[in-house]
Amino acid sequence: QRIAVLREEAAGERRVAATPETVKKYIALGATVAVEAGAGIGASVSDAAFADAGAEIGPRAQVVAGADIILGIQGPEVASLAGAKPGAWLVAGLNPFAEKARMEAYAAAGIEALAMEWMPRITRAQSMDILSSQSNLAGYKAVLLAAAEYGRAFPMMMTAAGTVSAARAFIMGVGVAGLQAIATARRLGAQVSATDVRSATKEQIQSLGAKPIFVENVKGIEGEGSGGYATEMSEEYQKAQAELVSAHIAKQDIVITTALIPGRPAPRLISDAQIATMRAGSVIVDLAAESGGNVEGAVSGKTIEKHGVKIIGAKNMAGTLAADSSALFSRNLYNFLSAFWDKEAGKPVLDAEIGDAIRVTQGGKIVSARLLG
Ligand code: NAD
Repeated sequence: QRIAVLREEAAGERRVAATPETVKKYIALGATVAVEAGAGIGASVSDAAFADAGAEIGPRAQVVAGADIILGIQGPEVASLAGAKPGAWLVAGLNPFAEKARMEAYAAAGIEALAMEWMPRITRAQSMDILSSQSNLAGYKAVLLAAAEYGRAFPMMMTAAGTVSAARAFIMGVGVAGLQAIATARRLGAQVSATDVRSATKEQIQSLGAKPIFVENVKGIEGEGSGGYATEMSEEYQKAQAELVSAHIAKQDIVITTALIPGRPAPRLISDAQIATMRAGSVIVDLAAESGGNVEGAVSGKTIEKHGVKIIGAKNMAGTLAADSSALFSRNLYNFLSAFWDKEAGKPVLDAEIGDAIRVTQGGKIVSARLLG
């Protein structure tokens, strides 16, 4: 098998889908690896480091020529895949809903596109889950960005010149990113509270030393749906949640929102009227800004100011920690390909549970039920 690693094309994308570590591991499986020149620069991995690991380095056309498997962080333009073997796999975060035309182009070009963000949430796929590995870093970075924009300190400080009080941070949505945001804000010395629609998170919040803020005594209170994901909540719940948040948010200095619902736009958690009740100088980071936003007015990739409150709309937060996010993403891809590596066939062979979940195109057609449905 010839595995090609492309230099990312998307503007501002610094990550790379393989590292010298995973290159060595692919070679140990019996594959050859070709890396596009400069692919690792944004993540501080030189061509020489890839070559030392055993990779062939070259321009894109040479690297892709005869490739069986092409690895990416995001999906490339279809033209970049010219010369790959018919039926070659493209393994990357493909954003199929937003990039449907590109998925059709992959199909027409005979590429078998595998959307890694559609990996099912099952125990055996945990180590292959790019959403988790990247969200974890995003949750950490969100707090650092908030701290950098905040004109006050996070920890309480007792000094000869007087006391600085601790910042109050509120984390909305306690999945992978939210848990890391709680831990990071705590480490910086903030007083942290958090909320989620899944009641299982209450204990997790407490175990990190933060205070759970939860809607109680409302019908349909449990927001945990299939696969551990959240579901959309009843109107009654949403109203109760809005009231609770209104009372709480006015006293917060830092708010980090991370709430997502798979296959749906992100839920709106904070309104402009609620922002207006916050103290001037407060900071909100909306990690869901790329998926429609939890915060009214948040713009992905921009920091805006409303009612004296800074609102940071996240964009590719994990990508700003390119070395670590690349290392984790690359391991996710290796864990995936190696788990399915069939020694006799000398190539990966997927099973139905995972294959059907992530396969977007095959045999010249779009085959994903999610995309067709
Ligand atoms: P996510 O990114 O889909 O959503 C982030 C959080 O927002 C979730 O906790 C969700 O419950 C919450 N949320 C949704 N709507 C909300 C609302 N209206 N108000 C407040 N919060 C809201 O979730 P995630 O980070 O991917 O993780 C969700 C769960 O799945 C976690 O328990 C995680 O450990 C689990 N998980 C399991 C696997 C696996 O087994 N392979 C992989 C990833 C995550």
